[in-house]
Amino acid sequence: MRKNGEKAGIKPVYSKAKWWNNGPTFLPTIPMTSNTSPTYTTRISLRAKRISIRVLANNKVELVVPRGASIKQAERFLHSKKGWIEQALQQSKHLPQATLERPSTIHLRGINQRWSVQYGQQARLKEHGDQLLIPQADMPAAQQQLTRWLHDKAHTHLVPWLRSVSDELALPFNRVTVRAQKTRWGSCSAKHNININRNLLFLEPEVVRYLFVHELCHTVHLNHSHRYWATVAQYEPNYPQYDRQLRKAMLDIPVWAHP
Ligand SMILES: [Zn+2]
Repeated sequence: MRKNGEKAGIKPVYSKAKWWNNGPTFLPTIPMTSNTSPTYTTRISLRAKRISIRVLANNKVELVVPRGASIKQAERFLHSKKGWIEQALQQSKHLPQATLERPSTIHLRGINQRWSVQYGQQARLKEHGDQLLIPQADMPAAQQQLTRWLHDKAHTHLVPWLRSVSDELALPFNRVTVRAQKTRWGSCSAKHNININRNLLFLEPEVVRYLFVHELCHTVHLNHSHRYWATVAQYEPNYPQYDRQLRKAMLDIPVWAHP
């Protein structure tokens, strides 16, 4: 089901509040409707001329936004369609659940690993050479095993990597937690606890390193001030390019790995 926006006065030019000015979150958190709790995803479209909403199976709502649209415009649109969304969500309960393709290969660019995946021939999950053997043959059971494996990989590789970047920059942090998040690649709290998204594994190593630098610099400045960005630039002069890549990267994560 799709709902198109009236030509909501969207200018295909830069406006003040933009998705990507929101710092490391990259995509905004959209407020929930009153008595349903759908999962929102946002897709920034180069082709879209107007904001639109799609209600998908599994209680998911996708917001498609033209590149020039502001967060305010999208939020206003979303609010104005609350009633419609709720109705569509009710109806979508009767839609067949989306079937999920199981991956035959997995490319973890961040740690330079390529896996070919075999299903259903093994009692336990096993890595064998460059083969990943998954006991379950069918989704979504196989997906559960894949994402658990992915989470372990993130612990094994991303956590020590963050520690080494922290040592290198002499920017210590407190605790690190690996998370599966839809809309954020990382965060850093006032207590210098850092969260990192397990799906960073899919991104180019330079971009992963930039995210680490980004969060570690928040241990110095807990904001996105000019002084903050100046600190980032000291450690990573190419940060604008990596920041741009990071903002688009959520769209490249394979569907099976979505939290
Ligand atoms: Zn930040």
